[in-house]
Amino acid sequence: MEQTYRIVAVGLKDGFSRAHSADLLAALFKRPAHELSALTSGKRITVKKSLALPAAIKYKAALERCGLLAEVAPHSTARSRDAAAPAGAPLPARELARLETCARHILATLRDEHGGEPRYDARSVSRIAADIDAGRHGYTAEQARKIARFYGAFLGKVLIDLFPRALPTWVATEDGPAIAFRRTAGGGTVTVSPATRVAQHIAQGSALSIAGFLDEQRELLEGAPATADASPEYSILQLVGNDTLGSLDIAMPLAMCCNCGTREDVAVLDVELSTRLKGDSALWVELPFCGPCTATADRVRPGIVKTGLLTAGTFLLTGLPLILATSHIRILGLPTTVLVVPVFAVAVGAVLYLLDRATAPQTSRYQPVTLESFDHTAAGERHVGFCFSNTAYAHAFSLANAEEISSGRIATGY
Ligand SMILES: [Zn+2]
Repeated sequence: MEQTYRIVAVGLKDGFSRAHSADLLAALFKRPAHELSALTSGKRITVKKSLALPAAIKYKAALERCGLLAEVAPHSTARSRDAAAPAGAPLPARELARLETCARHILATLRDEHGGEPRYDARSVSRIAADIDAGRHGYTAEQARKIARFYGAFLGKVLIDLFPRALPTWVATEDGPAIAFRRTAGGGTVTVSPATRVAQHIAQGSALSIAGFLDEQRELLEGAPATADASPEYSILQLVGNDTLGSLDIAMPLAMCCNCGTREDVAVLDVELSTRLKGDSALWVELPFCGPCTATADRVRPGIVKTGLLTAGTFLLTGLPLILATSHIRILGLPTTVLVVPVFAVAVGAVLYLLDRATAPQTSRYQPVTLESFDHTAAGERHVGFCFSNTAYAHAFSLANAEEISSGRIATGY
């Protein structure tokens, strides 16, 4: 896996006020200044993740022109191989021939299925991306591996054909055959693994589509566009480790409201997460809320004791008088209580349930993100479990924290 970088805003440059900087950022990101207030708060906030170094350097420069101090930090990939992998040795001829055969096989399949004269280009990649989207839930592990190998070979061939000026070649890496670009926008060699990306697309869906992969490489090789979709994407919560507890970075997506999922007018709030745990292990995180959902940011779901008391109180105040009032009336020879009370109880239950429910598009009347666990793993690393009411937000969170989730340091639920 190639080394990627994230951009962390760390504060304001001398000579810039918060308001001035926010105005400049609003122009850069083409978003209202109040949505970007978290960036100028002086807290460490990750603005962008998964950039190649050249793009990261450009991005940092763009932020600094707006008065933000920013750092380029290596994105921690799996810890054992966090150093940037060297470009890798050239592949032996036999392996090159195998990749060529796999790629031709896919080309022939595309010709059979879609006719015409398919080529190693973006259009063909879109077609196989659509195939993956359609079939990925049905693949066995063995099929997924095979598809990653074949489509990976095809995708590598596309990269070679599309970006000849970057001098792409197949190289051998720990993760199997990869493409090394030897001439990039920022100088230096960059290695990407097409088969790994196919596997990610199969495992995680269109957010990691191989079609997007081509755009990423174009950005990497030809330089990043300076504006547009550059809005801050994540806030990173850093749980610092000590001698016995390893540290943990948690990325909170900021682009959508974590309750209703809208992307309009989202502001970042500092929220103390409610927890069903004993003890005072509260966690403050930055979460995005739209205007209407702001009210849910610190509305904590009542605990079981409170709910029980409320239910008992409601019953005493309404059900009991009803029983007393109707106990002497008989219908069809039965005490009315036998008929009225169950009906009444169901009606009251239904009303309470409806009052307590979120109204669409909100997914929760209470805090949409809750803390389910806050401890450490068997290996002595910090471990945090979150529960989300909004599945789209949960999905974005899972993508942003895929490594930590697969290594068992972050757990998620709905
Ligand atoms: Zn909302």
